[in-house]
Parts: sequence; C-alpha cells; structure tokens
Amino acid sequence: MALRFYNTLTQQVEQFAPLSDNIVRMYTCGPTVYNYVHIGNLRTFTFQDILRRWLRAHGYRLDHVMNITDIEDKIIRNAAAERKSIGEYTAVYTQAFLEDAATLRLEKPERLVEATRHIDDMVQAIQKLGERGFTYLSEGSVYYRIASFPGYGKLSHNDFSGIRAGARVDLDEYDKADARDFVLWKAKKDGEPAWATSLGEGRPGWHIECSVMAMKYLGETLDIHTGGVDLTFPHHENEIAQSEALTGKPFVRFWLHAEHLSIDTQKMSKSAGNFYTLRDLLGMGYAPEAVRYLLASVPYRKKLNFTFDGLKAAATSIERLRNYKLRLETGKFSPGVNEKLEQTTLAARKAFDEALDDDLNTAEALAAVFEYVRDTNTAMDAQELLSGNAVSALEFLARFDSVFDVLTPSTRGGGLSDAEVDEQIAERNAAKKAKDFARADRIRNELSAQGIVLEDTKEGVRWKRQ
Ligand code: AMP
Ligand code: ZN
Repeated sequence: MALRFYNTLTQQVEQFAPLSDNIVRMYTCGPTVYNYVHIGNLRTFTFQDILRRWLRAHGYRLDHVMNITDIEDKIIRNAAAERKSIGEYTAVYTQAFLEDAATLRLEKPERLVEATRHIDDMVQAIQKLGERGFTYLSEGSVYYRIASFPGYGKLSHNDFSGIRAGARVDLDEYDKADARDFVLWKAKKDGEPAWATSLGEGRPGWHIECSVMAMKYLGETLDIHTGGVDLTFPHHENEIAQSEALTGKPFVRFWLHAEHLSIDTQKMSKSAGNFYTLRDLLGMGYAPEAVRYLLASVPYRKKLNFTFDGLKAAATSIERLRNYKLRLETGKFSPGVNEKLEQTTLAARKAFDEALDDDLNTAEALAAVFEYVRDTNTAMDAQELLSGNAVSALEFLARFDSVFDVLTPSTRGGGLSDAEVDEQIAERNAAKKAKDFARADRIRNELSAQGIVLEDTKEGVRWKRQ
C-alpha cells in the first residue's frame, strides 16, 4: 500500500506523492513568539517532525518552510509591559522555541522565516489583491472582502453563503460560526509599532504572512500545509482566500491538521492557564525523549489527554526498548541465521511501514515494534536467535528510531546532577527496604530514561551515565 494522508480539504484519505522533482514542498504555521511554547504546541510540531522523517524514509527530499509570527497583539502588549522593543522581546522566545525544538529532537525546517522580515512582500500582495477587487479600505485599515471569493468555506466545510456583506473584524482570530471580512493591513494605533508603507502607516494582519511567505519560497501550489486543528478556521480558510485570489491556482494539495493535546479533557492553552512547558517537565526530572515519545505515540488526528502516568509509561516503554537493544548488542549468539525469525523481522518491518503509510498511524507502528520485541526476546531466552538475526533486529530498531528518535539518551535538558542521582538511589534503597518494589522499579526506570544506569552489586548500587 502506498503513502496516504487524510486531507482536510477533501475530507478523504488520499494517496500522496509530490507534484514535481521528488521534492515535497511543505509549509507549517510556526509559533507566535510571545512566550514559551507549551507541550500542546509541541504536539503539533512533533507530528510535523514525524511527517518529515516518514516522507524522507520514502526517498523524498524536503523543502519545508516554517514561519515565526513575530508581530501580533500579544507580543505588542507584552513587549510594552517589559519596556522592550518588539525585536528584543521576540528574539528571546524565538531562541527559546528553537532550543525546545532541538531538545525534543525536532528537525529544523529547511527555512525558518520571520514575518517582520517580509513586510514589503506582504504590502505588495495586499496591493495586488486590491487591484483585483478583493479588498476595501475602512478607517485606514485594509480588509479582504470574503464575498468576492466564491470558494470561501471549502476547507472548514462551512456554508458562508448567508454572511452579512461588509461585516468586518480587526481581530485575527474570531468565532468559528461567524465568517467576517478579515483585516489584511491594520492602521496604526497609538503606542503600537508601525511601518510606513504605500498602504499607509500600520502593520500586517496575521493571515497574510503565511500566504506570502509560503508562496515566496515554495511556489504557487504547495504539496502539504500543516497546523493544529484550531487553525483550520479562520486562519487557513483565509490563507486560501488570499493565495488563490492572487494566483488563480490551487494553493495547497494536502491540508493536514493535528488534533489537540488536552489536559483534564480541556484543550491545553496559554489563555486557560492549564499548560506545561517542556522546561516545566524537564525541571521535574522527565527526559525529553519521554515527552517526545508520549506526544508521538497517539496518531495525530486523535485527541491526546496529557497525564503524568502517560508520561511515566512513555519513559518505561523507552526503557524496554533500550534494554532490548543492549541485549542485542551485547548478547552472545551462535553464528548463522534462523530463517523463521528472519520472516518475523520482515513481517514486523512491513507492519511498521504499513502503519505509518496509513496516515501516520504511530500507535500501530509502535504496536508492531513491541510485538516484535516480545517475540524476539522469547527467542533469545530459548537461544533460537542467531547472530544474523541480531543484525536484522538491530536494523529494524534503527528504522524505528529514524522516525521516533528516542533510543539515544539525552545529555541535554533534564540532566540530573550527581547529587540528584545519589538522592534518587537513596530513595530507591528506602523503597526496597520497605518492600515497595513497584516504587523501587519506577525510580530505576525514571533514572534509566534519563540515561542513568544502575547496577546492583554486593557493595551496594553503582551507577553510570550511558
Ligand atoms: P500558536 O503559537 O498559538 O500560533 O500555536 C502554534 C501551533 O500549536 C499551532 O499549529 C496551533 O494550532 C498548535 N496548538 C495550540 N494549542 C494546541 C494544543 N493544545 N494541542 C495541539 N496543538 C496546539
Ligand atoms: Zn499560518
């Protein structure tokens, strides 16, 4: 079976191949850099990372653009509160985002582009939209007239035929049920930063930056555009309206949207205050790989409810896989190849590939890996696994890790000091003394997930960093 994705535009699972040159031209709406990103945002970015890696496993090359929204209402408000310039303020959170992404092993897109470096491009696009009759001016701001674009609503599958003509909104995000003429260029307000341009003094609305930067670097029709589901309307609907009005061509072939990360069944969000940042979790001693595994383990179109039990289970799963890998690397196996086991390896690899080809079904891909680990561990116990099988098993693990990337312990972030490790070991000893073996095991697993290996010896516990 070929690679397939669910396309929000057609509401169907469709076979995917890039339009030309074996290169996938892909755009991702990046963060608004007004604060640290939370692990909800990072779920969406982790999905994009898995997508990138799986596309490459298919032999495609990538041209992936991600924007950084570095001019926006919340940024302006926060920068003013801290008496910083917009540039000074956003530099801190752009850097923090890049660090968090690297800690989570998210590959860097080929191009990271900032909105404020593309003001001229946006002004030109807005002017062109005006020449074509898609805009109007009101109180110094320029609006997009959605009634002039017949396809409006085709992505969110809303019928907006009854909209009130001329109802307009300055806000970048607005009510789902309510289609409005949206702002392309906001007239300068007191105390706000502004650019002096041929459209007058002001700043761009949020939606125009993505249309302009996507098409500037990737051409008029992209292969894939991704984001969280909350961006479907209005942001992506507006991107289509702007881009297609400019070119008369389809803007994006495949729209992929990631479901939300929730907590206590509520969407994790900055405004609700129910969020954890990656830094929060690392500060509690969790390893970045555990967070990455948890975020990647549920297929991207399913809701994922964050719990600490889930995070601990992720750490335990990684621990199992690392132990298994160590056993394969250090075990003494008789020479030769057990053909039956080779078939098991081939079948597992096929199941893994087919699961990811099926709209990135990561849960099934992981199930295939764990079933294989169980079967081959049993074969190792029975001394049926031969040296040739160990080689293919390690190759399969390498394929798994080229996508999931959790087997190598992190040395960055979450690193425990020697004293903290000693403290954990003392706690584990106390738990053992109290016959609380479950807790003792848990501490061992948590240490292992952070690359700390314990060895019980007659003289007591010895430990080393992996
Ligand atoms: P923002 O910085 O708000 O523009 O969001 C960056 C990305 O994170 C967007 O693709 C959002 O759709 C996505 N996002 C926001 N909240 C969540 C959440 N709770 N779960 C998953 N993705 C989210
Ligand atoms: Zn966008």
